[in-house]
Amino acid sequence: MNLFDLDHTTIPIADTDDEFPVRRVYCIGRNYAAHAREMGHDPDREAPFYFMKPADALVTGSDSIDYPPRTADLHHEIEMVVAIGKNGANISPDSALEHVFGYAVGIDLTRRDLQGEAKKLGRPWDTAKGFDQSAPISPIHTVADVGHPTSGRIWLALNDEIRQLGDLNELIWGVDEAIVELSTLYELKQGDLLFTGTPAGVGAVDRGDRLSGGIDGIDEIAITIK
Ligand code: MN
Repeated sequence: MNLFDLDHTTIPIADTDDEFPVRRVYCIGRNYAAHAREMGHDPDREAPFYFMKPADALVTGSDSIDYPPRTADLHHEIEMVVAIGKNGANISPDSALEHVFGYAVGIDLTRRDLQGEAKKLGRPWDTAKGFDQSAPISPIHTVADVGHPTSGRIWLALNDEIRQLGDLNELIWGVDEAIVELSTLYELKQGDLLFTGTPAGVGAVDRGDRLSGGIDGIDEIAITIK
């Protein structure tokens, strides 16, 4: 018998009544060269890497979130999100894309001040990255609907002013490579999500700001910070 009646996080699947149940949320750090450089790193010398957010940090179907506690430097990171629909470990490059169920547009909200402190002290990033409501996400669009986007604009505007603008063709690890690599660390399973990293132009968000963003061929997202 379950002691508590807990909600399982799900994400709507666009143009259907179906929901995608979320198991794990993996994220890639520094997967666009210009963003790696703006964070003070050399993408030619350091490969991208992974971290995680809890599934219940996802925000769907809401047009606002609360400004999180314990930060004075909340940053936006617009990202393409891959939804995994087929289990697999040590996945081969030629079958990697068969594991993709669909794609979404997400924002990896980051308490940059806590992240900076964690980096300095050699501590984990959980409090900087995995806080409540730290991952607003659009509905998921199936591969049947959007294919496997490998180019197209990825952008984010702060109060309708463009702050981040990149192209999916700038990803250091493409979706197939990221799946191959991640599947050597963990067995990927249905319900997993992968935030694929953010282009350059990350910056701070204040109470009352409106974030909007999108990826050509996938979707758009908009959220106000209360
Ligand atoms: Mn990110």
